[in-house]
Amino acid sequence: MQLKIYNSLTAEKEIFKPILEGNVGMYVCGPTVYSNVHLGNVRTFLSFDFIYRSLIHLGYKVRYVRNITDAGHLTDDGDVNNDRFVKQTRLEKLEPMEIVQKYTVDFHKVLDMFNLLPPNIEPTATGHIVEQIKLTQKLIETGFAYESNGSVYFDVLEYNARGLNYGELSKRNIEELFANTRDLDGQGEKKNPQDFALWKKASPAHIMRWNSPWGEGFPGWHLECTAMSTKYLGETFDIHGGGMDLKFPHHECEIAQGKACNGASPVNYWMHANMLTMNSQRMSKSTGNYILPMQLVSGENDFFEKSFHPTIVRFCFLQAHYRSVLDISNDAMLASEKGFSRLMEALKILNSITPNDEKQSGFSLEDWKTKCYDALTDDFNSPVLIAHLFEAVKFIFALKDDKETISTKDLEDLKSTLNAFVFDVLGLQNIEENNNEKLDQTLQVLIELRNQARKSKNFDLSDQIRDKLLAEGIELKDGREGTTYVLN
Ligand code: AMP
Ligand code: ZN
Repeated sequence: MQLKIYNSLTAEKEIFKPILEGNVGMYVCGPTVYSNVHLGNVRTFLSFDFIYRSLIHLGYKVRYVRNITDAGHLTDDGDVNNDRFVKQTRLEKLEPMEIVQKYTVDFHKVLDMFNLLPPNIEPTATGHIVEQIKLTQKLIETGFAYESNGSVYFDVLEYNARGLNYGELSKRNIEELFANTRDLDGQGEKKNPQDFALWKKASPAHIMRWNSPWGEGFPGWHLECTAMSTKYLGETFDIHGGGMDLKFPHHECEIAQGKACNGASPVNYWMHANMLTMNSQRMSKSTGNYILPMQLVSGENDFFEKSFHPTIVRFCFLQAHYRSVLDISNDAMLASEKGFSRLMEALKILNSITPNDEKQSGFSLEDWKTKCYDALTDDFNSPVLIAHLFEAVKFIFALKDDKETISTKDLEDLKSTLNAFVFDVLGLQNIEENNNEKLDQTLQVLIELRNQARKSKNFDLSDQIRDKLLAEGIELKDGREGTTYVLN
């Protein structure tokens, strides 16, 4: 079985050859923790969670590193005074590290809700300032970077003059880039508009600042990923992932930094996940076209007619290939919910099937397994894999209706293969027990009792009900339509 991965660098599906046989080093750009992650961000992290799970299932030993950007990510205009953290600090009247902590906790909570596995290492930019200063020094020494007014910039023209190719990932050529740049950042400091900051001098208003050989400042966003990925995975590693929008300039700059520092391309396979759209428009905080994960799960939003369990959201996401755009809609979610119930029902039926070793089955388990693995190893094609899982679902319903038969050996094999794909690889959760009617009825009684306690101003009791349920992983949410609950 050969794993094929679409490599954004070569724009081709390639046979995956890890540097060290049987091992994979994978780095994925993490969130900038200055606000809550929206559902679009979740899609990208979920895509890589599926890839991570698939690699493990295929027998690889994976070291998965996903960073936390907790410093130095400027807003799009590049103005130092518009550092995302500094802005949010002013808005929320909190310390920068309080902002970082608040949104890191939220990020973990959200990913946990969607059953994402934690990475093996989760380094932070602020924890790697020394490494970033060292890399900057090395780039100055080798002539790829220059200091200007307390900031340090990467010299893109020098990089190209040495036969390297800035633009190789995003397929842009440098003349075109120069012609289209209206970069306000570092005006008058940079030799060329495409030069990017490795280190930025901190303005007096800038609270997140560190000492460096060039005065007080903070690291550039692109440099942090080079520092952390190469520290934990080596100067060249197997897979680097992130959302499509990070290809340029972020990943282009990472390639340039890596090549300039170590003389070798830092990454063998670049993987880019496509965007989540809503109403056919990219989900993004800046345009207001976004929904927070909790809003979808609790039903408190204006886009969806009902609430959806996180695992249904996960199932919906995985029905699109990670390289395709996915438009989330009420209809898509309802269809996913229906499909998911059928899948769970089939798994339940499978446990009550009596095998028959006398009769020949019309379903070839071996062929089916081959098709599933072909889909998985064909650049992690989750929609095709899911389509094959539904062939098995159809067969299971035929078994139930006595229209098909299965041998003892095949029954065990089908059970274990299906369970592995559904729960380990796709990472779905069986919510049937959680959703069972009895639990729902019991919770409705508790919600009613809490409402009565609040009405008679017995807040001690009403808080106790809420807190004790929360301790059991059941969160009560008071909204416009009354109180609902979420099972965490
Ligand atoms: P950020 O915190 O802004 O760096 O974003 C975290 C991750 O979410 C990055 O990999 C982005 O590419 C990704 N991302 C941002 N918007 C979307 C979207 N609408 N759909 C999918 N991924 C997104
Ligand atoms: Zn990054």
